[in-house]
Parts: sequence; C-alpha cells; structure tokens
Amino acid sequence: MTIKPIMGLAIFAFGMGLMSAAASAQTRPEDTEMWKPVPAVVSPASAPGAAPSDAIILFDGRDLDQWVTAADKSPAGWIVTDGVMTVDKTRGNIETKRTFRDYQLHLEWRIPADIDGAGQGRGNSGVFLASTGPRDEGYEVQILDSYQSATYVNGQAGAVYKQHPPLVNAARKPGEWQSYDIIWRAPVFGSDGALTKPATVTVLHNGVLVQDNAILAGETVYIGKPAYKAHGPSPIKLQAHGDPSIPISFRNIWVRELALR
Ligand code: MG
Repeated sequence: MTIKPIMGLAIFAFGMGLMSAAASAQTRPEDTEMWKPVPAVVSPASAPGAAPSDAIILFDGRDLDQWVTAADKSPAGWIVTDGVMTVDKTRGNIETKRTFRDYQLHLEWRIPADIDGAGQGRGNSGVFLASTGPRDEGYEVQILDSYQSATYVNGQAGAVYKQHPPLVNAARKPGEWQSYDIIWRAPVFGSDGALTKPATVTVLHNGVLVQDNAILAGETVYIGKPAYKAHGPSPIKLQAHGDPSIPISFRNIWVRELALR
C-alpha cells in the first residue's frame, strides 16, 4: 500500500468521526423540534359539506356565478334548484371562471334514484381536473353509476378515465349523495413545453381511498393512449355527457389552492 491511500483512509476515518460526533451532539428532544414557519390557521368546516375558511366556494347552492359554458365561455346554463345544480345536456360542459394549478377539491354528486341506462350510459359525467379545451379535453376522474352496474373498470366511478381503475368500488346507491375529495398536482412543463413532472392525483370517494397518488400518463382520451401537451393554470370542468340517461346533480363544491412543490 502506498502513502496516498493510507492518507485517504485516515482522512475518511477522521471525517466519519466528526459526523458521528455531530450526530451524538443532538442529545436533547428540542434539537429535532421545528417552530417555524408556523402553519396558517384554517377553520375547518362547521358542518358536513361546508367549506373550510380558506376555500374558494365554487358552488354554494345559489347560483352558477363561478362557472361558464366550456365551449364559448357564455354564462353556465345548468339548472339550479333547491341548492342543487343539475346537468343540462343541451348546454354542454361547464368550467370554472378561475384557473388553478395544484389544489384540494371537494364536490358532491348524486345519480338520480330513477336512473336508467347501463354501463357508460348510466349517469355518466366527470370532473376534469384541468380543462384544456371546450369539450372533454383534460384529465377526467369519472362520475358514473357504479353501484352494482358493470363497465370497464378503468371507466367506472372513481377511475382516472382509461388510465387507473379505482382501488375499490365505494359507490353508493342511486338517489344518495356521494362525495369526491381530490388532491390534484398538475403536471409541470419546461419552457420548451416538454413535460418535467407528470400530474398526480389522490381521490377519496365517499371517504374511501380510490386513487393513491396515481401518476397520470397524460390527458384523458377516449381512443388510444394518453399524452401530455403543455398547459398552464386551467379551469376545473364538469361533464355534460351525451348519454341518454337522466341527468345527474351536484352540490357543495369548493377548492383550496395548494402551494406548488
Ligand atoms: Mg365521464
């Protein structure tokens, strides 16, 4: 062994000694406490379905002021009665006036008790987590009657449509209100438009985890493989699906913007 490797070994051993000394110096519980930054105070919901204090209310049962028709940005024409909005299929998809990046979204939806049709034609709607066009462009979490009603599993309620089946089927019966709580992390694109970080989504359906930080392969497409195309902050969109079944309803929709990470 020559001199140099021996010296190298000695320096390495000395370094390790310093590291273990530094580690053993943290002997008090206080050494691992964090006091800053202090998390912002948020008052949680006062009642089921109500929003926490820092939420943006997207639908409170009164009007569609936060929404426009996705196709032409004209006032949203879905029907509001008794605190509930119901899809008007003749008016097409609606989307928020505001745009969002990363967020936590709460929404409630109800398949009519007397729903008709089968499979994808039974109460089909959806929430597009980032709307990138006037029709069904974006990233769809499926809304459908999946209570004892079969279809392809990556198209049932709670699915990231045509990408990820839900982990379990947590559907309630038609006629009962159901909830989605969604954590959306939008995709990140470089200045050249290339994807640098794919989108991820976590979904709780009626409080049950159905998507666990699922990684998206791109925007939802009906035929073929999903693919990304660069976009910035985008609206949240609700689907007026063209199936002939009785239209579904929504209530209590709110969103909390999340800091990017
Ligand atoms: Mg749909």
